[in-house]
Amino acid sequence: MSKLTKETKSGLREGTRLVHAGREPQDQYGFVNTPIYRGSTVLFPTVASLKDRDAPFTYGTKGTPTTKALEGAWTELSNAAGTVLAPTGLAAIALALMTAVKAGDHILVTDSAYGPTRHFCDTVLTRMGVKTTYYDPLLGAAIASLVRPNTTAVLVEAPGSQSFEMQDVPAIAQVAHAHGACVIMDNTWATPLFFPPHERGVDLAIEAGTKYLSGHSDLLLGLVSANKSWWPRLRQTFDAFAMCAGPEDAFLCLRGLRTMKLRLHEAQRQGLALAHWFEGRPEVKQVLHPALPSHPGHAIWKRDFSGASGLFSIILHPASEAAVAAMLDGLELFGMGYSWGGFESLVIPFDCSTYRTATRWAPGGPALRFQVGLEDMADLTEDLDKGFARLRAVGDAEKQAG
Ligand SMILES: *Cc1c(COP(=O)(O)O)cnc(C)c1O
Repeated sequence: MSKLTKETKSGLREGTRLVHAGREPQDQYGFVNTPIYRGSTVLFPTVASLKDRDAPFTYGTKGTPTTKALEGAWTELSNAAGTVLAPTGLAAIALALMTAVKAGDHILVTDSAYGPTRHFCDTVLTRMGVKTTYYDPLLGAAIASLVRPNTTAVLVEAPGSQSFEMQDVPAIAQVAHAHGACVIMDNTWATPLFFPPHERGVDLAIEAGTKYLSGHSDLLLGLVSANKSWWPRLRQTFDAFAMCAGPEDAFLCLRGLRTMKLRLHEAQRQGLALAHWFEGRPEVKQVLHPALPSHPGHAIWKRDFSGASGLFSIILHPASEAAVAAMLDGLELFGMGYSWGGFESLVIPFDCSTYRTATRWAPGGPALRFQVGLEDMADLTEDLDKGFARLRAVGDAEKQAG
């Protein structure tokens, strides 16, 4: 049985914390893991206990031992004041934005944000009378020129969705805080293990637990952690919506947490190996991976991040849609699908030019995003090698046809 007390737990290092956070075997007959509590109703033995506002559990929407365990573990890991769970990563984004804004406000959102984040801003927030300005992710401290008297939130995401621009989060946070604005970050790519959001000036940090925390492509979950100044408002907003995550999903994320460090380090190793392999390919124009010295945001990554996960993009030399389709359609190990962070390798073609408004996306060739899984690298590169052969074959046939 674990002999750890609250005091000794708080002194532990990260890897050890990941093993011990969010479980109390002595409170559950010695069983190692916090079980799944299902439930709406919580019974109170007396009128006095019913009136006790400090009771740990009062009703299903206010949390269960399972959801509380995951929230607590994430709070520890993130050095936050508190965490709430949401049913999806996108719901967590909506919750963070609703925590920070009111009618009449103006917000700044990076042009490189996760696509559905824009949808939320352009529909729900617009309807509520909140105006969004999209900004160039490379602005850094120059974002000051876009701040208005009614700017109340700045949303950052580093690296950028699909296109992997790095943002100077501490510089942007400094400008935002000088104007009293809330800094919201989608930290899904790095997780708190590779980017400690609250130590870098972020007020509300979002994680799509769907990705690396779950790690197995079998659930949806979101988390929002807050620093001390924003925690009461986040919790209040969460209670108002009761946007609760399911108990099985919270349990599976607690399970994922135990191995997340191992999986992330392997994703980093595999991702870099594949990125280097792409750099040596004649079909590849550019590899967009922040941990490569060739990446324009490499210095920022090196300064602020302690690792890279296994998601990155490449730009091919100009090729027709048919040639790219021939390459991708025939891949046997890389599935084509959205999402990432699981154990399996994935690829999607993408085109940011269809939705960006503050920056121009013109990479000079087709763009592909890769999620590298746990397969053997030699098998992955053989699969891709055959894919590049199909790409070249279609290209050659097109040239001959004139
Ligand atoms: C997937 C993703 C989300 C949304 O998570 P869901 O659980 O799929 O809603 C948010 N941000 C980023 C960067 C993501 O990749």
